[in-house]
Amino acid sequence: MKDISNETITAYIGLGSNLEDPIAQINSARLAINQIENVKELTFSSLYHSLPMGPQDQPDYTNAVMGVITTLEPLDLLRSLQTIENAQGRVRKGERWGARTLDLDILLYGDEVLDHPDLKVPHIGLTQRSFVLYPLQEIAPDLLIPGKAALADLVALCPLDGLKRLD
Ligand code: ATP
Ligand code: CA
Ligand code: CA
Ligand code: CA
Repeated sequence: MKDISNETITAYIGLGSNLEDPIAQINSARLAINQIENVKELTFSSLYHSLPMGPQDQPDYTNAVMGVITTLEPLDLLRSLQTIENAQGRVRKGERWGARTLDLDILLYGDEVLDHPDLKVPHIGLTQRSFVLYPLQEIAPDLLIPGKAALADLVALCPLDGLKRLD
């Protein structure tokens, strides 16, 4: 029997890629996330085109945000997402914010605030990053960011920084 004691949580995952056909990377990751046991897609934003943070000698990014329901504990969800990053050829070099085939971040996990060495939720960049805030607003406009503010208020304060929604 499956463990049915865990609560069902709505979580939001940020997807990003700027190597080896980013749109295909995002689409594959979406399928792979749906394949995780006890994770199911609720919503998926449009794809967005964004400019790199940090090192500028790298290609532009494609981003999206996915809403899921899950009974996985947060660290188990993180491990499953890291397995997908690795399977899609993510290579971790020393450089922060360097180019990558796939980045999967847990943006929100229900209304929980987590401060684990391997997992901070809400995600640390959530409140300032246009490529996270705008797609999130598209799929969950009424969200309240625990410990922070209403999503709509954060979006209103966040410049686009070159973000473009793809049709
Ligand atoms: P950033 O975290 O600023 O978006 P990044 O995505 O490039 O940068 P990574 O190299 O992908 O950073 O991840 C570094 C570490 O961040 C991971 O090993 C993971 O343990 C940790 N981490 C902390 N909080 C989260 C979260 N909410 N989602 C994903 N990883 C997280
Ligand atoms: Ca599933
Ligand atoms: Ca990231
Ligand atoms: Ca990451």
